[in-house]
Amino acid sequence: MRVNAISNAAVGFAAKSTVKNSTVPQSLKPVHNNEEILNKTNEGSKAIMNYFFGMQNVPSFKGYPCSTSAFVVKQIDNVPCACCGKEMMNAKEQNEFVSKAVKAKGQELADVFQSNFHKFRRNERAVAREIMNVAPSKPNSSISDILSSTKKTGADLYKQECTIVLDEVDTIAKEIYGEKNKVSNYVAAQKQTLNKKDGFRRNAFLKGVQNITKDDTKANQTKLMDKAIELPLSEDGVTKVLNKYKNSDSTSIARRLISTAVMTTEHIHPKSNKGANNTENYMGECAECNNNRGSADLNTYWQNVYPNMPENVQRYNDYITDKIIKGEMGTKYEDYPVDLEKAVSSESKNVIKLTILTPEEIDKARKEKGIADPKPLPEPAEGEMEIVKKPGSKKPRKPSRR
Ligand SMILES: [Zn+2]
Repeated sequence: MRVNAISNAAVGFAAKSTVKNSTVPQSLKPVHNNEEILNKTNEGSKAIMNYFFGMQNVPSFKGYPCSTSAFVVKQIDNVPCACCGKEMMNAKEQNEFVSKAVKAKGQELADVFQSNFHKFRRNERAVAREIMNVAPSKPNSSISDILSSTKKTGADLYKQECTIVLDEVDTIAKEIYGEKNKVSNYVAAQKQTLNKKDGFRRNAFLKGVQNITKDDTKANQTKLMDKAIELPLSEDGVTKVLNKYKNSDSTSIARRLISTAVMTTEHIHPKSNKGANNTENYMGECAECNNNRGSADLNTYWQNVYPNMPENVQRYNDYITDKIIKGEMGTKYEDYPVDLEKAVSSESKNVIKLTILTPEEIDKARKEKGIADPKPLPEPAEGEMEIVKKPGSKKPRKPSRR
């Protein structure tokens, strides 16, 4: 945003004042056409004044001022959450899922859930799995029929989901290390604790896996951790979802179950601590991660709940950078990766370090791939993107200690 705002503004001014393009230094060469920022921001005109009147002190732009609902990342499909790394849904995908799931019954219902299953977040997945498993044997039952007639409690669904995820972790460990290995032994011991109320502790389990594999390759750690973080967050969480929605209509249930997978705008430096409302301080996170962190310290949160967050922010950055290169993010996000890196590094006190592309490198990548310069995206209508309601409590919660 900064670089382009200056360069585009410079070009606009240059055309009017007969300053030749060749006098624009390389670093200020236009990447593409966008005069909006020139027209909209004082900084834009200040930058041009300073530039053309020979002042060295070109002010730096403070991100691209943008409401959280206009954050363009929210329109992109399948973005991985910057915190948990799992694919998110945008509002359009959420609506599509709900309308399909509400109409479907029996096997078709199971199929709709199956094809979206990787998107469900942890506590909701325990309930969604029950609907998916039961649906084929009840060909005339809707979502609400299945949930209202289940005899299982939240504790049952929690235990069932934990068992499935732990078995999947075990399978991956055996693929990596062979039949007898430390991770599988650890998983077997941890499974025993599921039989006691509050016996199994998700976050402690994640730390345990991390410790056991700390000398292993990053690739193996990632495989195991990507699976392990799918564990439901808490038995209480699963119970709340089930009990609150057990007797609701199918639309409410479907919408609630997928709501935590919907992308929200996370203020990297929390809004409650005067975090800025602009793209410099935004990243896309699923509603679950965003809600759970609240205004908690970033490092404390992820080290407890998502120990692989540093890798996940990098995945998020790489995914978005690819979209920027391809022109799918319009013209205002050229230096988003630079801003993201700065904000994440500052908020994590340099614990999380990202590898990013500068606007110049993005431009170069585009040229190498023969991709045309991006065009501005149409501005979303006011409130258009605000159809996503955050689930659960309105108050930000402290990070779970489990
Ligand atoms: Zn997430």
